[in-house]
Amino acid sequence: MDTGLLEKFKRKVEMESTYNKLLSRKAINTLINYFDVDIEEITYSNTISNPKELALSYYQEYFPEYYKIILDGIKTGKIKIGSDIEKSEVLEDGKCFIKLNNDDFDLIVIVHELGHYINNNITSKFVQKHRIFGEVVSFYFEKDFEEKNIGKYGNLFSARRSHRILSERKMIHAIKYMLEYEDYYLEHGNIDAIIDEKKIKLILKLSSYHCIGYGEYDTVNTLLKYPLANLISSYMIINDLEMKQNIDEYIIYNIDLFELMEDERIRKSILIDENLQKLA
Ligand SMILES: [Zn+2]
Repeated sequence: MDTGLLEKFKRKVEMESTYNKLLSRKAINTLINYFDVDIEEITYSNTISNPKELALSYYQEYFPEYYKIILDGIKTGKIKIGSDIEKSEVLEDGKCFIKLNNDDFDLIVIVHELGHYINNNITSKFVQKHRIFGEVVSFYFEKDFEEKNIGKYGNLFSARRSHRILSERKMIHAIKYMLEYEDYYLEHGNIDAIIDEKKIKLILKLSSYHCIGYGEYDTVNTLLKYPLANLISSYMIINDLEMKQNIDEYIIYNIDLFELMEDERIRKSILIDENLQKLA
């Protein structure tokens, strides 16, 4: 394995092993088991020709006050949507770039990224302090959109569910490996005996993709935000909770993660069909 890369990883383990984790080890392990589901990837179709218009009319119909903020963002160039954009991201200064892939997934991507944009550009933010919960906002709008459009757009929602789980499965594997390295380091002072190129590459790949801009968080906490957001957003949709100000505080004080993971309705809303529940 490339020595530079390995050294970088060793420093990462040394540093991050001292960071507090957002969840208890028991909760992390339960979450890992929950999302370690082996499913088939469902490919996105190519049937939707106007994803931008559809996403905008969703916000216009159900969240007119956010729609205004979005329209303003498009007019002033703060929001850019197109296939020429390198990566979808919403920056600290409020700018929002949405990359289109020219398949039906674009519709979900636009709804998702605009969720981040809204959170960053409203005065009373949904997520005020705990940026780790930023994904809850976007997953919430995605799932609310799904609920309001169920039966439409062909296989879009099943495909999205399969992609979400597969991506989170990779993340929980990276979390598991990273914790193994951190634990070993804390016990032995180095990780030389357990170097595994495949595991290290997965950790570095996911952390460099997802952790940019999340400097205050380590790999484990940053990657945890996706499976966590998937669970919590489903909980909110199922229980008709509105996306509201300081949702991060609400989550911390009111949600029992173990209860969420035992809730069959949530499981059904995350997985594609009942056959997929067998591994949970
Ligand atoms: Zn996101």
